[in-house]
Amino acid sequence: MKLLEERIKKDGTVRDGNVLKVDNFLNHQMDMNLFQEMGKEWKKLFADKPINKILTIEASGIAIAAIASQYFDVPVVFAKKAQSINIEGDVYQTKIESFTHKRIYDVIVSKKFIGPEDHVLIIDDFLANGCALLGLIDIVEQSGATVEGIGIAIEKGFQQGGKIIRDKGYDLKSLAIVDSMDNNELVFREQ
Ligand code: 5GP
Repeated sequence: MKLLEERIKKDGTVRDGNVLKVDNFLNHQMDMNLFQEMGKEWKKLFADKPINKILTIEASGIAIAAIASQYFDVPVVFAKKAQSINIEGDVYQTKIESFTHKRIYDVIVSKKFIGPEDHVLIIDDFLANGCALLGLIDIVEQSGATVEGIGIAIEKGFQQGGKIIRDKGYDLKSLAIVDSMDNNELVFREQ
């Protein structure tokens, strides 16, 4: 998606540890016009899928998923990062290692909100090593629902997550794929 690539080039900054900082428009200050265009693009990319629910993870996924949901006209559920000691009741539970914070979170979704009848589109802001997505996929699979597709805003193509998820056969669509960002120079994959 050219609009997103251009915005990353203009406002993104590369930090140590393969971190691309996009807090000017994506995950701190948020550009709603851009989010609307991203939502429309995902709707186009997944137009043939019978999606009835969007699943994301707090915190950065929530806003992009919420705007996207307006084009799909379906509810959004977000997975919550929980303290193990507070987990109770009827929840699906998985563990996710955070790329940016280097710690492991317990992540939960209430059984009330996803079940075998659901056809789920998973949305998230970044794909790096794939840990967050594998956790969300695990939750959908525990629920008996179907993963219809995965929409990512920015995939870092030089990390392994995209390959792992595509090799498992999931329909993964990333709006921008950064193939390298050496010396602060961003190279995007043609798609
Ligand atoms: P993964 O689980 O695929 O390794 O990482 C995905 C999660 O880590 C995303 O939900 C995102 O919040 C965070 N993340 C990974 N790489 C980056 C990055 O380069 N920049 C930012 N801002 N967040 C990232």
